[in-house]
Amino acid sequence: MILAEENMIYEGKAKKVYQTENPNEVIIYYKDDATAFNSLKKGTIVNKGILNKEITTIIYEYLNTNGVQTHLLENLSDRAQRCKKVDIVPLEVIIRNILAGSTAKLLGIEEGLELNQAIFEICYKKDELADPMINDYHAMALGLATREDLDNIYAQAKKINELLQEFFLKAGIILVDFKIEFGKDQNGNIILADEISPDCCRLWDKDTKKKLDKDRFRRDLGDIEDAYQEVLRRIKGMV
Ligand code: UDP
Repeated sequence: MILAEENMIYEGKAKKVYQTENPNEVIIYYKDDATAFNSLKKGTIVNKGILNKEITTIIYEYLNTNGVQTHLLENLSDRAQRCKKVDIVPLEVIIRNILAGSTAKLLGIEEGLELNQAIFEICYKKDELADPMINDYHAMALGLATREDLDNIYAQAKKINELLQEFFLKAGIILVDFKIEFGKDQNGNIILADEISPDCCRLWDKDTKKKLDKDRFRRDLGDIEDAYQEVLRRIKGMV
């Protein structure tokens, strides 16, 4: 499939977005580019775009079957999806089941602590500030989301977490934490957008605790493509 550069409306770190003849739809193209630490670390993970598109598709179809609305409409090629056009809510929603990464550091606690309940965090999508963590009051005061929007987002995030924990566990994978993004569609509904892949989740093998996610890139652990392949292999055919 050829996507004309003049139709590209946005290029992000991992994806490109193209307009289509239908003003309510876009085409999302998954790249192999990888970044970490707010783009301080840059690289390429061979076939990452193909793997992440396929993994996101499987997960979004599973979520959709279980009552979660997503922006995904149809797969067009190995790297491209037709999606509903949404206005992205400028918040990154992070859900944690096991303490790791930035919050483990923030709290001075070793990675791996099983939490009594999930932690929900929101970050303001602002690259120049490395997406600072904020709370609901910041989000409302800055006009990023209303109380109603936030309640809706947290309720969906909770449901997505429950569904995905169960889903990954069946594949022998622990869902440690993950980041999701929401957007408003043309009817004003807040729906799941962006992607859910090893780029934005921490996924550990249930038995060995081997990392099957972007931490292999962040922390130079090697075998990155194999880890993403492994995730796809295990979840394929589960839905
Ligand atoms: N995450 C992400 N994009 C970001 C920040 C975090 O996808 O810009 C994901 C990350 O992969 C992990 C979770 O959100 O699964 C929590 O990340 P954390 O806040 O611990 O930050 P990190 O340690 O990744 O810098």
